[in-house]
Amino acid sequence: MSKQEKSFPAGMTPLGKAKFLFSCHSGVSCFMSCCRNVEMLLYPYDIIELKKCLGIRSDRFLEEYVQVVQGDNPFFPALMMKMTAANSCPFLGPDGCTVYEHRPFSCRMYPLERGVDRTPEKGRAEEFYFLTRHEYCKGHDEAQEWTVKEWLRSQQLLFHNAMADQWAEMDTLFAGNPWAGEGAAGPRQKLAFLVCYNIDGFRDYVRHHDLIDRFKLPKTRVRAIETDDEALLSFGFDWLKMVLADMPTLQVKRNRQIT
Ligand code: SF4
Ligand code: SF4
Repeated sequence: MSKQEKSFPAGMTPLGKAKFLFSCHSGVSCFMSCCRNVEMLLYPYDIIELKKCLGIRSDRFLEEYVQVVQGDNPFFPALMMKMTAANSCPFLGPDGCTVYEHRPFSCRMYPLERGVDRTPEKGRAEEFYFLTRHEYCKGHDEAQEWTVKEWLRSQQLLFHNAMADQWAEMDTLFAGNPWAGEGAAGPRQKLAFLVCYNIDGFRDYVRHHDLIDRFKLPKTRVRAIETDDEALLSFGFDWLKMVLADMPTLQVKRNRQIT
C-alpha cells in the first residue's frame, strides 16, 4: 500500500511537509498548565535521563517518582510519573520545568504525535507525525512556524525516537506473553522489568553474573556498556530478545551460558 493509500483514524491527517504554528514560552497564559493533572507514561530511556539529571540511582527514582500501572500491554507493566499532592509533575518549579534538558519523551514531542508503521511492503518502518492539541493550550495561537523536521531537531527528538523504537520492539515482544508459563511477576518478567526500568539494578546484575563476558562483543561495545547506561540498555534489550524469544541478537562464547 502506498503512503497516499494509507488510512488513518478519523480526524488524523499526517503533517508530512506541511508547516504548523506553535510556541511555548513563559509569556503564554497557559504556561505550566500541561505539567499539572497529567497522566504521563515514562519509557526506559526517560528513567535513565531523569535519574541522571537528579544524580540518583534508578531504583531510588522508581521508589520516589514512579507508579507501576497496567498500561496497554496486558503482559508487562507500564510506569507513570507520580504526581505531587497538589497534582503537579514533581519536577515543576515556580518558573517552569526544573529538568528541562532531561524532560521525558512525551514532554518533548507535544504538540506532535508520532505513529510508526512497522509493516510497510518495502520493509522499512515508516513514521508519520500528527498535530495534537490540548484544549487549554495557547501555544497553537502563536506565530512561530515549524516543519516536523525542524521541531524534531529543536527538541533533540531524533535520538529519543531511536530509543523509543528500541523500546517499541521490546513492548511488542512482551505483548506476546513470552514468560514461558511463569505468568506476570515470575522470574523472567522480573528480569525484564530490571533491564527496562532499573538500569542501575541491571548494572549490578551484569557485574554479579559476569554477563558481558559470556558473549562475543566488540571491545568498543564492551567499553560502552561498562560506562554508558544507553549502551547497557541496548545490550539488555538484545539479551532479553535472546533469552525470551531465541533471537540471534548476541553470540554466546563457547561453554558459556546465556543467563
Ligand atoms: S517533566 Fe517538566 S515539562 Fe514534563 S511535565 Fe514535568 S515539569 Fe512539565
Ligand atoms: S499548554 Fe501548551 S503553550 Fe501552555 S505551557 Fe503547555 S505546551 Fe506550553
